[in-house]
Amino acid sequence: MNNRIKLAEDRFNRKFTRIFGGDSGNNPCWEWTAGKFTDGYGCFHFEGKEIGAHRVAWMLHNGPIPEDRMVCHTCDNPGCVNPSHLFLGTATDNNHDRDRKGRGHKHSREHYQRIQKLSAAARVENNRGR
Ligand SMILES: [Zn+2]
Repeated sequence: MNNRIKLAEDRFNRKFTRIFGGDSGNNPCWEWTAGKFTDGYGCFHFEGKEIGAHRVAWMLHNGPIPEDRMVCHTCDNPGCVNPSHLFLGTATDNNHDRDRKGRGHKHSREHYQRIQKLSAAARVENNRGR
């Protein structure tokens, strides 16, 4: 792994917090605590570009993403960057998957609110050191 990637990884690893509870058991979501896109996906700056944090998670753990593939979530939490909650799919897979799960809301509203609260708290925690 080259140094550029290593630095990105260090930066990446400081920007999420594990969310225990809900239906994720011992394999919790890694909730992105830095900037997010309006659709809830984490936003990561890399080499002058803003890319989806879940895509970065995939690349750091599995290598490059084939051009015709998307990184999808098994947990339906767009802010999650846990590599074991991610899989490669096509755009069609992603849509089918979402339809099957009923527009992608496996977690309850309460679960999302809890995640939001926790990630807000984590953000405060992260800022304290600056
Ligand atoms: Zn997850």
